[in-house]
Amino acid sequence: MTAIDGLPPLRRVIAEHGLSARKSLGQNFLLDLNLTAKIARQAGDLTGADVLEVGPGPGGLTRGLLAEGARHVLAVEKDARCLPALQDIAAAYPGRLRILNADALKLDPLDHLTPPIRIVANLPYNVGTELLTRWLDPPAWPPAWQSLTLMFQKEVAQRIVATPGSKAYGRLSLLCQWRTDARIVMDLPPEAFTPPPKVRSSVVHLTVRSEPLFPARAATLFGLTAAAFNQRRKMLRAALRGQAPDIVARLEAAGIAPTRRAEELSLTEFCALAREIDRQRT
Ligand code: SAM
Repeated sequence: MTAIDGLPPLRRVIAEHGLSARKSLGQNFLLDLNLTAKIARQAGDLTGADVLEVGPGPGGLTRGLLAEGARHVLAVEKDARCLPALQDIAAAYPGRLRILNADALKLDPLDHLTPPIRIVANLPYNVGTELLTRWLDPPAWPPAWQSLTLMFQKEVAQRIVATPGSKAYGRLSLLCQWRTDARIVMDLPPEAFTPPPKVRSSVVHLTVRSEPLFPARAATLFGLTAAAFNQRRKMLRAALRGQAPDIVARLEAAGIAPTRRAEELSLTEFCALAREIDRQRT
């Protein structure tokens, strides 16, 4: 049976193009087109938007994005074996799908797209986290993109949305929540993928904030959070010793007891401390 787009089912695509999953490329494919359409819908209104899809593989999610009305999709795939399957999709959606055979960690394809831009990816988890942190720290804010809709292992998704005091709370929570509104929008069991991974997965949707939640200089805030969470069990006066010569005074001026620990500090407190450190530098 053919799907709504007239293309063959994904199991047949995989068999015809010999796309046996490679562990080295983190290949766990989504073959249910109802599910990929549902994920595409989590990315928001795609009509009139350009979409960057990283790691399309055999193109299940790509088909969902196009069927949901994306104006253009730029698909960046490292595995050249996937290109013929992706070219078949491009032929079914003339002028709307561009395919780049490249490592997404080695290029910045956002220049090729026209706003509004949405980014969607089901990537190997390590690549996804690396790209997420890059997308959250472009040379200028607001960035070129409007939203990120990304699949992560559930534990990473929980870190992204975690609040102070929880085990999952850390640097990633602060980076994401400072500049975006981040929500877990779907949970997926291992059986949703072929082959199934060992862990559960979640889709996180992050919407850009035109201004970060609280004022602070990005470099100071990112330096502080890295130092604080590298030694998350230590008191802040010790963990942040290298951040300012008079760190105890800076903490107190920001209204933070120097004996507190990173995992207890809210985003607004981290931003207050970053401003206090910068005020002293100028
Ligand atoms: N999006 C497809 C789906 O949902 O079925 C495939 C998902 S699979 C988890 C990850 C995909 O990312 C694979 O097709 C893999 O080849 C590709 N990939 C892995 N590392 C990549 C990288 N650095 N740059 C671009 N693509 C990459």
